Amino acid sequence: MRHAERAGLSSYQVLGIPIQAVDYDSTLRLIQRWLETEDVGGPQSLLFHICTVNPEFILEARRNLSFQTVLLHSELNVPDGAGILWALRLQGIRLSARVTGTDLVPHIARLAAQLEWRLFLLGAAPGVAEEAAQHLRDVNPALQICGTHSGSPNAQDWPAIQIKLHRSRPHILLVAFGHPQQDLWIAQHRSDLQGMVAMGVGGAFDFLAGHIRRAPPWMQRHGLEWLFRLYLQPQRWRRMIRLPWFVVLVLMERIRRPG
Ligand code: UDP
Repeated sequence: MRHAERAGLSSYQVLGIPIQAVDYDSTLRLIQRWLETEDVGGPQSLLFHICTVNPEFILEARRNLSFQTVLLHSELNVPDGAGILWALRLQGIRLSARVTGTDLVPHIARLAAQLEWRLFLLGAAPGVAEEAAQHLRDVNPALQICGTHSGSPNAQDWPAIQIKLHRSRPHILLVAFGHPQQDLWIAQHRSDLQGMVAMGVGGAFDFLAGHIRRAPPWMQRHGLEWLFRLYLQPQRWRRMIRLPWFVVLVLMERIRRPG
């Protein structure tokens, strides 16, 4: 059984992919519970893999079985993406808000500074993880960032990453390799990442470092963050053009399984 469900959180499905009903507070409580009370550090220690599921993840999972398996076995899938909230609303399930990887990182950093958890920032272009780390430290002077590494999910990068992780022993590993690679990479290295919380964070380091602007709050509130991202990075249109298909699939599922 998923750790989230053991912790009493409800789990729903969007096109067959489980999504837990969490907000930022309950996600942080779950992370704390994992790190403080569960098998972490012992011989049966586990990796706690958090996936920030948005409609792109769900479409990818339909054509990429490895990614689907990752989303079916991750310890926690948070509802990132307005499309996920909409799909759940059609089932009569109202979640209060999205939980995005980009917003979760500062929340995690604040708690990590209080509870002395070490953070490792992996991925993004050279220098970006360091800049993001500096920003997080400026806001939380007590925060321990035990390492950063730009690198990539390619196998030849693993030995260098492995050495750094082994030396620095992070509690929380944030991975910015883009999706689906970041979560495939975490799952592939599950046995090497035991005792950690690991989460794919997409462009979070680029946002924290100030290289990409966040959408204005009103756009975020109205589920239009994707549109602002498209305006800043028009090369993303190939990815975005698939999103109406998510709407069609959710509506078809609703017609097939009403009620
Ligand atoms: N990235 C990386 N190595 C790679 C591929 C991507 O470090 O081999 C980084 C990239 O620099 C960026 C992040 O992964 O910081 C992907 O951000 P994006 O917003 O595109 O994430 P997505 O929307 O795909 O989750």
